[in-house]
Amino acid sequence: MIDQNFERELNACLAAHWDDMVADLDALVRIPSVEDPATAGPGAPFGNGPARALQAGLDLCERLGAASKNLDGFCGVADFPGERATQLGVIGHLDVVPAGEGWHFDPWRVTRKDGYLIGRGTGDDKGPLLMALYAAHFLFERHGRFPYTLRFILGANEETGMADVKHFHEVYADPALVFTPDDEFPVCYGEKGQLQGAFSCPVPADARVERFAGGMALNAVPAQAEAIVRAESAPAAPRIAAEPAGPGLIRLRAQGVQAHASTPEGGVNAIHLLADYLLAHDLCAPSERPWFELVARASGATDGSSFGIASADEAFGPLTMVAGMAGDAEGERTLTIDIRFTSAVPVDDLQEALEGQAASCGARWTASRVEPVFLMDPQGDFIQVLAQSYRDVSGDDQPPFTIGGGTYARSFTKAAGFGSAVHGEAFPSWVGGMHAADEGVPEDQLKQAFKVYAVAIERLMRLDL
Ligand SMILES: [Zn+2]
Repeated sequence: MIDQNFERELNACLAAHWDDMVADLDALVRIPSVEDPATAGPGAPFGNGPARALQAGLDLCERLGAASKNLDGFCGVADFPGERATQLGVIGHLDVVPAGEGWHFDPWRVTRKDGYLIGRGTGDDKGPLLMALYAAHFLFERHGRFPYTLRFILGANEETGMADVKHFHEVYADPALVFTPDDEFPVCYGEKGQLQGAFSCPVPADARVERFAGGMALNAVPAQAEAIVRAESAPAAPRIAAEPAGPGLIRLRAQGVQAHASTPEGGVNAIHLLADYLLAHDLCAPSERPWFELVARASGATDGSSFGIASADEAFGPLTMVAGMAGDAEGERTLTIDIRFTSAVPVDDLQEALEGQAASCGARWTASRVEPVFLMDPQGDFIQVLAQSYRDVSGDDQPPFTIGGGTYARSFTKAAGFGSAVHGEAFPSWVGGMHAADEGVPEDQLKQAFKVYAVAIERLMRLDL
């Protein structure tokens, strides 16, 4: 339950200041803060846009009562003073992904239409970060000094490498608790471990497959794959198109269905379709079979079962595995793997399984990224306070959840993803989601976030940190 006076004050604050808040958001959205190495320099490691947006965010923090510091353009901190030096942290980001194609609105300003705010960054993450800032300002005006220092961490490189938070850790220790308004409500208390890497093997001298390539990203089920094989004919098959590609050569194109690596179940892997087809119709040389059998196994199941690593735990559900990109260059074939794993199997066991798979066909496995499982106790005070704050404001009693993706949260010891989008909420067709064209957010969702953040920060300040 929220105190009724408190809720009345929150509503009165929104009624009085909402237009100003939207104007502040508009000022931030007008800075196209996309990473741009061409304009990078001292104080602007990710280019001019992210640096300008970061400084604009820090200036806003100052205006709202926090003392700010810009860490050489990587990120910034802004502290609302507390009785104690112990910190409660909030981290969001001011960089955005490129506008991309297909917009019906100007991506670089806020358009207000039918209760929605449209513009790049309105939902990810300028809008949500601003709501947390305003909530802090509201509480600061009401009470003055907080029991603990409230530290805002403003990132400038979340979308393209997270060098911002890495730099933060080089300068400062972790706050006692951190939440990031760069996720969804109710509250995200865990992120699967991630293991990424690639299989590789030399192309044999007697290869019949002249080319084999597919996929655009390591972290997606590929929708397209293509091969050129030495053959006179190629039998018809579903989702495979064949055409002549020169004397004695046939070009094969496989059409799958794309899906993100954290939720691959709905996808159809085009690399798998193609490898399977080559094997079934004997279109590869005997020396190539072991490699294409490995490719077919790796891409044939998204639960790890084809590698004997299928596993699950209560917090995360099943492990997922995606073979995202296949290629051949400089005499070597490669296939990338993205595994999102749970606490059920140690990552060393997964590595061992992958090395075993590689060895079985004379290939190599090379890991490029290993991130451990990040998991908070869903019954602990921190997650419970966040979940209850959201529930009390919204009346929505969805339980806390975990994800297969990664946010800022995993780079802190005690952290959670907390809003401000709502898990499972759909928008009308003319409003795009995060990273999409016509990115937008309901005004009511942001107003709700402002209230949730105020309630949650007030309650977190009462915990024994
Ligand atoms: Zn984001």
